[in-house]
Amino acid sequence: MLKSLASKGLVLYNRNYREDDKLVKIFTEQAGKRMFFVKHAGKSKLAPVIQPLTAADLLVKVNDDGLSYIEDYQDVTVYSHINEDLFIMAYASYVAALADASLPDNQADSALFVFLQKTLELMDEGLDYEVLTNIFEIQILSRFGIALNFHDCVFCHRTGLPFDFSFRYSGLLCPDHYHKDERRCHLNPNVPFLLEQFQAVKFSELESISLKADMKQQLRAFIDQLYDEYVGIHLKSKKFIDSLGDWGSILKNRNEEDSHEKNSH
Ligand SMILES: [Zn+2]
Repeated sequence: MLKSLASKGLVLYNRNYREDDKLVKIFTEQAGKRMFFVKHAGKSKLAPVIQPLTAADLLVKVNDDGLSYIEDYQDVTVYSHINEDLFIMAYASYVAALADASLPDNQADSALFVFLQKTLELMDEGLDYEVLTNIFEIQILSRFGIALNFHDCVFCHRTGLPFDFSFRYSGLLCPDHYHKDERRCHLNPNVPFLLEQFQAVKFSELESISLKADMKQQLRAFIDQLYDEYVGIHLKSKKFIDSLGDWGSILKNRNEEDSHEKNSH
């Protein structure tokens, strides 16, 4: 049955369907993720609202048993800074894919919608996209049914110590209890400290977060371990980010040189 409703929506991806039609997966605030059918997509008045990572106020007809339809739209948001930077685009696509993977279709989750939209906005404003991605990854763990305690030692519950993480106990070990797990992670204690901050961070506080490259690398490595151990999904967009890491720094340096040259002319 088709039901009309007005909702904000964010395009997750689209794909070709038949000759010039498209199927567009949109995360709507009111009705969750839905697959929309757009006829003659190239010539359609809907063309501006089917590109990935475009947000808009939509008037839609949603269908619980099949494809949904976009009736009209207004206030289209295109994240132009994200779109023009391969690196930010890669991270933005990954957080959108994570949101997609964490939620079944047709199930509303307006808190997740708002969180995703805000994360993309902040990436677009130029805040550190790697840190924003880490925060998103940590906060979305609960959607995968994972609750991790980065606050106190699993044995003595003391807080504020240089903690390490143990996969064996799925929690923190304080220095007095490091010996409980010979295969503990041997983390820099700043890693679990930051993850606890990330679990509760407010958007208003994000502008003040600034981390060194080495710290970001350690966070990346440990969050990858957490995802391997507890979530076990393998997203194409994440593999792409990992491959960027291999040649990304070379490309980045090139870009910086290019822009210096441009500026000096
Ligand atoms: Zn302890």
